[in-house]
Amino acid sequence: MTSLIPDEGAIVTPGDMTSLIPDEGAIVTSGDMTSLIPEGDMTSLIPDEGAVVTPGDMTSLIPDEGAVVTPGDMTSLIPEGDMTSLIPDEGAVVTPGDMTSLIPNEGTNETPSLVPSNSLSTATVCVGDDGQTLAKTEEMINGLIKKRPHLSRFERLSKNRSAACLTVPDQTPMERFNKRHLSVTQLCEQSWCEIKVIYGFLQPHVKRREMKKSAVITGSSIHLARELEANPDAVTFVVQTREDREALKLMKLTQMVSGLKAGQLVREFPVFGVLEGVFFLGVVDELYHNESGELVLKELKTRSHNSLPHPAQSKGHFLQVGLYKLLFDSMVQGSMTRLNLLQYLKLQPHQAFGSELQIYAQKLGLPAVTFGELVDHFLNVLNFCNLQAVNKLTLEYIHQRSGSLVGSIEVEFNEAQLRAELRGYLAFWRGQREPQGVDVENIEEAWKCSMCPYEESCDWRTSKLQEVIVDGNKKTRFDGFKSGSSNSKCYQLEVPQLEVGQD
Ligand code: SF4
Repeated sequence: MTSLIPDEGAIVTPGDMTSLIPDEGAIVTSGDMTSLIPEGDMTSLIPDEGAVVTPGDMTSLIPDEGAVVTPGDMTSLIPEGDMTSLIPDEGAVVTPGDMTSLIPNEGTNETPSLVPSNSLSTATVCVGDDGQTLAKTEEMINGLIKKRPHLSRFERLSKNRSAACLTVPDQTPMERFNKRHLSVTQLCEQSWCEIKVIYGFLQPHVKRREMKKSAVITGSSIHLARELEANPDAVTFVVQTREDREALKLMKLTQMVSGLKAGQLVREFPVFGVLEGVFFLGVVDELYHNESGELVLKELKTRSHNSLPHPAQSKGHFLQVGLYKLLFDSMVQGSMTRLNLLQYLKLQPHQAFGSELQIYAQKLGLPAVTFGELVDHFLNVLNFCNLQAVNKLTLEYIHQRSGSLVGSIEVEFNEAQLRAELRGYLAFWRGQREPQGVDVENIEEAWKCSMCPYEESCDWRTSKLQEVIVDGNKKTRFDGFKSGSSNSKCYQLEVPQLEVGQD
């Protein structure tokens, strides 16, 4: 099937691909194509009319010699436009050699004209414009890559999705990325750069790679060690349903509410609830009563550098602890309802626990065997616990290598200001405004891009830099900023490291 690989530099348009789609139900016994056809919904890979697909995009679609592909597997790859002329006859047999006519010539975008009537050929790959389906397809492709290592070239396809639109008409980011609720750390990431949040959905493999960096793993280990320190008898379960997973959290939470009430320090305390009409989830690092009887909410942050973070980074941390307080306070003040919990998280109240979890619930003396019963019990505990609202918000920065304390910051809480800020962030998710990226002309902001994994492919940054080049005044300012910052020791020292999200 190597004949299907276009020459390097050739351009293939979506229209070129229309001829390759067999009739639904036809049987095609071409050579090795199975491995090329991903399972599931591939519609997001259909190029927009007029989009350009380069040969490089296609090499990963070449099947191994000997693989079998059925027409049904390929219908989802049909590009827009007229494709009827190239559909093979019922029962036609196609050999790899039949495909050679589809190879575009070097440097051309001409449509291959000779597709035999009894042939089936391969498919194209391109950039879709729907982030939600792209994200799903990305997951699916990664699954395929794991199962079939020879498909590793698929990874290149997802890189090309950087060209996908940052916004789509008539679809809010909540709808586009299939979000029923948000996590607190997601909002903190948003406070850093909204474009980066979007790329996180469009190119999840890049985000996953970031999360595997040693600084992040070390941060996670420190959090885990602290959690185990507070809860040495932690048990592990294999859960089979979403309800089981959430039930386990509620059981843990029920115990922590009692512990906190009894004056104990609790770690990794889940918080959730509705803020400004959106359901939020989060996990508070630490809650305890200090000597004055105040309830302290502490968030642990690890640092690669032995210095406090840049203000741009602290901004996200302040937002995080403020939102945790809003969520915790509303929980203990009885704002949480059964309906909220079940509806926003789409959980089934009649779902019985798995056998292991049932035994565990009995051991804890919980009067519940279904998720709904546990929710009722949990809400009872919460409503009658008489826990006070959080009095103090603290951020604690720990040096990763030495484990020593870099510093602590007490965060002021201003509810009106925080809620106004929150509404501003939610306006993005509700599609009420355009997403905002980094201000590349601002010395306090621009450095963020230099540590961003999407820097090279970021459309926002490219267009902003182009504006700078076109506008002479901006360029003079920008050049001044660049030469000034390159010599700035302070700037280099304050470049923050990636932090660990705990939600
Ligand atoms: Fe945001 Fe800059 Fe990254 Fe683009 S390159 S996503 S603007 S941080």
